[in-house]
Amino acid sequence: MSSVRTKITFTYLLFSVLIISVLGILFSIEIERYIFDRLLGTLNTETKALSAILHEGSGGAEQRGEKAKELNAVAKASLMRITLIDSSGVVFYDSSVPDSLLHTLENHGRRPEILEAMHSGTGSNVRTSRTIEHDLVYVARQIDVVEGPSVVYPNLQFIRVSVELTDVNKIMYEIRFKIVLAAIVVLILVIIASQVISRRLSNPIVEIGDIVKEIKAGNLDQKLPVRSQDEIGRLAGLINEMTDRLKADIEQMKKLERVRSEFLGNVSHELRTPIFSLKGFLETLIEGAIDDKTVNRAFVEKAYHHANRLDGLLTDLIEISRIESGEMKMSFRYFEVCSWLKQLAADFADIASKKKQKVVVEVPDSEILVLGDKDRLKQAVGNIIDNALKYSSDGTTTFVRLEEIEGKVVLSVSDMGPGIEPEHLPRIFERFYRVDKARSREVGGTGLGLAIVKHIVEAHGSKISVTSEIGKGTTFSFELKK
Ligand code: ADP
Repeated sequence: MSSVRTKITFTYLLFSVLIISVLGILFSIEIERYIFDRLLGTLNTETKALSAILHEGSGGAEQRGEKAKELNAVAKASLMRITLIDSSGVVFYDSSVPDSLLHTLENHGRRPEILEAMHSGTGSNVRTSRTIEHDLVYVARQIDVVEGPSVVYPNLQFIRVSVELTDVNKIMYEIRFKIVLAAIVVLILVIIASQVISRRLSNPIVEIGDIVKEIKAGNLDQKLPVRSQDEIGRLAGLINEMTDRLKADIEQMKKLERVRSEFLGNVSHELRTPIFSLKGFLETLIEGAIDDKTVNRAFVEKAYHHANRLDGLLTDLIEISRIESGEMKMSFRYFEVCSWLKQLAADFADIASKKKQKVVVEVPDSEILVLGDKDRLKQAVGNIIDNALKYSSDGTTTFVRLEEIEGKVVLSVSDMGPGIEPEHLPRIFERFYRVDKARSREVGGTGLGLAIVKHIVEAHGSKISVTSEIGKGTTFSFELKK
């Protein structure tokens, strides 16, 4: 009983046996009753016919011999036993008993069919005959007033006919045999049909089971055939969808894993350069340069510069890992963006002045409220302005603009720097991607600035865009939520 197939077959079989048995029993009972009723009907008609025969003629007692012959012939032809009984129960004719032995018969007045006929005109009974020791059905009839007394047998009160039940029993036996035969045929058909149906049901389930086993073992390229739109078909479809999803998730995980180890490699590499330089300067100083007044200060300053770079790198690394792990929570508030931008630009005045550069802020006169995390946006826009100043040559101007275009607030930073080649543009937001590595190091870049900018802008539901023209300058811009 462990497989679905056995369960289905067994259930079908059980119900079929039950239904067939109940129907078979009811059917045979009904048929038996019908046949028996018909037999009683026929015998009843026979008694009427016999009564007519016995009322025929006018010869009186002289005709008895002839009548007896006639009755004998009828009894023989119809395989019936005919008995004539008088009002006191005495048998004065019986087709199965010679006249000479009639006096040995016991009184029939208390026979059930006679008692019934006495009451209601006709009576019937089934029993084993004491006279001939066979199962017999008896039908008796009382001569009624309308018929009047028989001329031949004036004593005649009851006409009784009986037949052996053997024939009826034989017919019933045959019918029952046929019913059982039909039931066996139906059962065989049910077994075959249930096997076919259960196989149809269980085969796809077994198939699904096999493939799920494969999937469990890691073979995600398996596809289940969807052959129908029923529950099994839908299940196969769902499993296929699940496998596809799993496959995509695994791909994504592998990709993330690759990115992670690539990042780790990059980080180690990035850290190594300043540490190596720092170590080098310190070693030179230890090995004697510390006492050489012409170089010692320059070397210490250089060591300090590399330590500074290392600090910047670590700060950016911590920042980006906090953003990417989701640890850094944004707190969005409405704030006035024009004054905020002016303040931010002013913070860069010192750095700009070192290269005789200018930071010009162009904002509308009105106050504009935007929704965002002020500190994070300061970091993002700060990184963009910082890059503009770093990569542009001395004496240039960087424009920080805020415009309202079609109801949208757009913040942009444009510089007069060297510009970025189109092929590099899509990649500058990647971690550690630099157009010119040497130049980036020289100006103290970490390669993480724009990656941080991208994250912050995207966390504000916006998108950073960049346009650039070689020799003319670069513009970074993004929209702010009002
Ligand atoms: P870095 O710390 O190297 O500046 P970023 O992520 O901030 O790293 O920038 C990535 C690269 O994009 C830089 O190395 C530089 O090559 C290029 N870049 C960024 N901003 C500018 C700009 N305003 N003008 C020209 N090149 C830029």
